[in-house]
Amino acid sequence: MNMHTPTLTPKLAPAIAAYLDGAPKLLIDGKLVSAKAGGLIDVRDPATAQVVARVPEAQAEDIDDAVRAARKAFDDGPWSRMTAADRGRLVHRLGEIIERHAEEFAQLESLDNGKPIAEARAADIPVAYNTFYYMAGWATKIAGSTLSPSVPGEVHSYTLREPVGVVGQIIPWNFPLMMAAWKLAPALAAGCTVVLKAAEDTPLSALRLAQLIVEEADFPPGVINIVTGYGEGAGAPLAAHPLVDKIAFTGSTDVGKLIVKAAAGNLKRVTLELGGKAPTIVFPDADLDRAIPGVTLGSFFAQGQVCVAATRIYAHKSIFDRLMQGVSDAAAKIKVGPGLDPTTQMGPLVSAEQLRRVSGYVQSGRDEGGQVLTGGDGLPGTDGYFLKPTIFTNANPDMRIVREEIFGPVVVAQAFDDSELDALAAEANNTEYGLAASVWTQNAGVAHKMARRIKAGTVWLNCHHVFDPVLPFGGYKQSGWGRENGAQALENYLETKAVTMAL
Ligand code: NAP
Ligand code: MG
Repeated sequence: MNMHTPTLTPKLAPAIAAYLDGAPKLLIDGKLVSAKAGGLIDVRDPATAQVVARVPEAQAEDIDDAVRAARKAFDDGPWSRMTAADRGRLVHRLGEIIERHAEEFAQLESLDNGKPIAEARAADIPVAYNTFYYMAGWATKIAGSTLSPSVPGEVHSYTLREPVGVVGQIIPWNFPLMMAAWKLAPALAAGCTVVLKAAEDTPLSALRLAQLIVEEADFPPGVINIVTGYGEGAGAPLAAHPLVDKIAFTGSTDVGKLIVKAAAGNLKRVTLELGGKAPTIVFPDADLDRAIPGVTLGSFFAQGQVCVAATRIYAHKSIFDRLMQGVSDAAAKIKVGPGLDPTTQMGPLVSAEQLRRVSGYVQSGRDEGGQVLTGGDGLPGTDGYFLKPTIFTNANPDMRIVREEIFGPVVVAQAFDDSELDALAAEANNTEYGLAASVWTQNAGVAHKMARRIKAGTVWLNCHHVFDPVLPFGGYKQSGWGRENGAQALENYLETKAVTMAL
């Protein structure tokens, strides 16, 4: 393949260079294969806009092969007869594989998504392998209960927890390997078989994992299938496939609604992790030495391409100027550059399309009378998809930049003058989303009262962006259905059967 070789610091690990040069393959029925029709998708380095690899474009026929392999592995294969301990050991091994190849995965993730390599090393990759380690332990701890029905005569009743079956999993591009881990680990621990579709913009780490699964793990064929393709061409047939029992989706709220419709055909179980518009509320007594870096991180971590990013800053008017001066200074100092440069603190956006979308919001914010405190423009002299950390003030609740999910490094700050908690919470909840929020105050009573009043699946107090496999994660309202992580994640992949015997 004649492709642009990126000039990077540090140079790519030899295994990664070799992987990109060889043609990455789909994993279907235990084998690495090309798409049947032979289609390929260009994968671009968002720091340079250059094509760095080509991956298979799976279509309906490939999805059908993958689903049938998963069906066979679930219905007839050794997987369903395997002990829970052996299943857990295999899930654990996926974590070991990722940890063993951690640096390679960090480089791939940075090259593909654009994120700073320091961030991939510190967050994406450890969260991914720790998710497998955590979920591996659950395989042996899935249990039903004994029950006492008040029916005549003597009966013995108990519940069985059984895997839901073949699961289709569709993930976005912002934390590619971590999202794959959040999906695969609980499904496999529960005993399901899976077909995972990676996002077209960031297929590289999922296909590298596929290759390592074949080389270094001993999963029976068909238990894990990993495919890349377009949303319409590969995602939609997976969501509609009659042999799929359940769909787990992370992505936009609009596509989430399409998934629900597609799943209606055979009434698949559905869980959804969708968009967000997280408020971060700073009270007058907040410790600004912590809130300033905390809000900055909340707003701009991962280029702000995070469903729980702190996009709506509400600060009391008595501290608004100090807080926003601090956040704006910190944002202006963030070093924006290519993700693979180890000194980079913020990379490019994931794609030209995403840069166009997010830049459209910057324009809309200006048009609607918002004032740019910092940022608003890109990096001169590069073809990469860069946008500097951008903060708007002078906003009002009706502006598009306040209401809609931007999914980029663009946030809006508003002042409040009354700290009445119900009114503040109502403003924080004035959104169709309900994924996350953060609150900054030194008053523990205020913090916990706000935690109760905010309608969101995650509330952070004096912090933002704390993720861990033990913490349930998901949305209220149009941010989704169900929870990932924690014991709740297993529920997404289990059916309950009530068994009663007349004695
Ligand atoms: P997206 O467009 O909804 O895509 C998500 C996934 O769905 C991708 O794999 C995509 O494939 C696929 N897809 C697109 N159209 C489809 C269809 N008709 N049927 C089946 N699958 C389809 O979202 P995105 O742009 O990748 O990610 C950004 C969005 O995801 C944001 O709104 C963000 O809030 C949300 N998100 C939520 C969470 C969470 O945990 N709640 C986490 C991360 C992101 P292609 O990539 O090929 O289009
Ligand atoms: Mg890419």
